[in-house]
Amino acid sequence: MDTVLITGASRGIGRETAILFARSGYNVLANYNNSKAQAEELLSILRSEGLSIEIFKADVSNRGEVDAMVDFCASRFGRIDVLVNNAGVSEIKVFGDISERDWDRVVDVNLKGVFNCCQAVLPYMLRQKRGRIINVSSIWGLTGASCEVHYSAAKAGVIGLTRALAKELGPSNINVNCVAPGIIETEMNSGLGEDVCMALREETPLMRFGTAQDVARTILFLASDSASFYTGQVLSPNGGFVI
Ligand code: NAP
Repeated sequence: MDTVLITGASRGIGRETAILFARSGYNVLANYNNSKAQAEELLSILRSEGLSIEIFKADVSNRGEVDAMVDFCASRFGRIDVLVNNAGVSEIKVFGDISERDWDRVVDVNLKGVFNCCQAVLPYMLRQKRGRIINVSSIWGLTGASCEVHYSAAKAGVIGLTRALAKELGPSNINVNCVAPGIIETEMNSGLGEDVCMALREETPLMRFGTAQDVARTILFLASDSASFYTGQVLSPNGGFVI
């Protein structure tokens, strides 16, 4: 049975990804940071279906906590086949108002978190001579978003990290790919006003926001045998918002 470690799995896209992988027969290590109650609820739902899941609290921007999480995953399930770097935070602020602290928090979670988790799982994947790493970026990492410069920079960094690491790890049979979702209905967008939402829907050729399941299915595809010849690629479920 393959094992997947999913960061930021207490809510939104990460939660749906954990459900989809567990129901597809994976052992799932679902990471959370602040949302303990939601993580425990996910654990009990999937356990009640007889599925294989553990939860683990760790801040992905903290290397010591990431190392402890990866060690727990390997000792509990014996292997780590897939890493999904999904944990993220966003913030809407005009550029001049972004403090050094804001910058560090957004870059540390969205980009350094990916570095921390990739480096921590690598010894296990190298030993197994196979692995899949799937990083969650954003369309804003492709196009840039006004009033989200720190978020856009971090997500663009995730794409650069993906491409470089894919080249380095390809010879070790480890595929590294990226998912860059469009606007997805999760708590991350709960602060957007109805007028903004309407304008964004109108700008989207498919005339709707994406669901967390839309993204989870793309992630599951990249982990599957059907995607064995994909590496260093960016797949963007975005309803045609970016073409
Ligand atoms: P969300 O509903 O706000 O969920 C964010 C998740 O990340 C939560 O599970 C949260 O866990 C976790 N997280 C945040 N900081 C963390 C940290 N320091 N360590 C570990 N986990 C942490 O957001 P979402 O929409 O599902 O976003 C998931 C990913 O998709 C993010 O990388 C986001 O940037 C990306 N994305 C989202 C959209 C969108 O429109 N929603 C579009 C493009 C890309 P806790 O609550 O337990 O702390």
